[in-house]
Amino acid sequence: MIAEERVERLHALAREAAADGETDHAREYVRLARRVAERNRLSLPRTFVRFACDDCDRYRRPGVDARVRLADGHVVIACDCGRIDRYPY
Ligand SMILES: [Zn+2]
Repeated sequence: MIAEERVERLHALAREAAADGETDHAREYVRLARRVAERNRLSLPRTFVRFACDDCDRYRRPGVDARVRLADGHVVIACDCGRIDRYPY
């Protein structure tokens, strides 16, 4: 399997595990996806970057373990671990 496909597959697994409440499994997939991307010098998909927390590696679920709000042309994502990310939209 080529690296891009592995990253996509791991992203899908992280998303599914998170949706099932399997936070620890989701975290493992997030870490693996990052590792594969890094090793192959790939950039991670935009949705991955937005949902995976850089501090705690959680695949965040808005309303469950992250709060999402819109402010000044930005999406603000506050993770349960305390990290706050802002992305322009
Ligand atoms: Zn976090």
